[in-house]
Amino acid sequence: MALCKPTPGFVHSTETFGLVDGPGVRFVVFTQGCPMRCRYCHNPDTWALNVGQTTDPDELLEKALRYRTYWKENGGITVSGGEPLMQVDFVYSLFKAAKAEGVNTALDTSGILFTRDEPFFSKLNELLSVTDLVLLDLKHIDSAAHKKLTLHENGAVLEFARYLSEIGKPIWIRHVLVPGVNDDDASLIKLDAFISTLTNVQRVEILPYHTLGVHKWEALGVPYTLEGVNPPDAELLAHANELLHTDRYDGYLK
Ligand code: SF4
Repeated sequence: MALCKPTPGFVHSTETFGLVDGPGVRFVVFTQGCPMRCRYCHNPDTWALNVGQTTDPDELLEKALRYRTYWKENGGITVSGGEPLMQVDFVYSLFKAAKAEGVNTALDTSGILFTRDEPFFSKLNELLSVTDLVLLDLKHIDSAAHKKLTLHENGAVLEFARYLSEIGKPIWIRHVLVPGVNDDDASLIKLDAFISTLTNVQRVEILPYHTLGVHKWEALGVPYTLEGVNPPDAELLAHANELLHTDRYDGYLK
């Protein structure tokens, strides 16, 4: 399991029995650092990068492996955030060691940092070589609306999705459905059309907007701008699932 020069990373927290971030039961690592500012973010306390002490990837893997018996055939480790690609060397160190142990690895990312510029592109490809599945958040298909929602346009995200399709890396697409923000038919139909151009999609998931993280915004003293927006009801969710044809996808088959 020993790696040459494993890179330590800033970790916000871990979850032992994650059931929503990839297939099966998963050990989920939430990393620090995110350049996005999604208006619905429920982890704004992960935004700052260099917070707390660094974590050694080998020690983190050792901790995760204590729960291995619960993973059965399709569980494993997911790295989420924050934005994990802000610490691409650390995630590579962790996943490389995990793959040496035969562990399934999933990367949950916004894709916003994607670029073919070096040295990032080579590092990303190294990381993808030890990543079984990418959970990619597509937050809004319209770039201007994406910017209003996250402070960033979506060009890099869509380009990353296309690249993952080009190299055949399995992905799950996730879309947080926010009433009045990204639930209109035209946007969902356009998003569906984009997804249908990709060849590597195993699953499309709609995640209902929720307000569980609002207290964290208050604690940070940052104004929460979705005040008064309610989670989508069952009818809206069913309609969005229909427009995104989520039943077309088989899910994780490995
Ligand atoms: S990408 Fe994730 S962590 Fe970053 S602001 Fe958006 S929801 Fe929050």
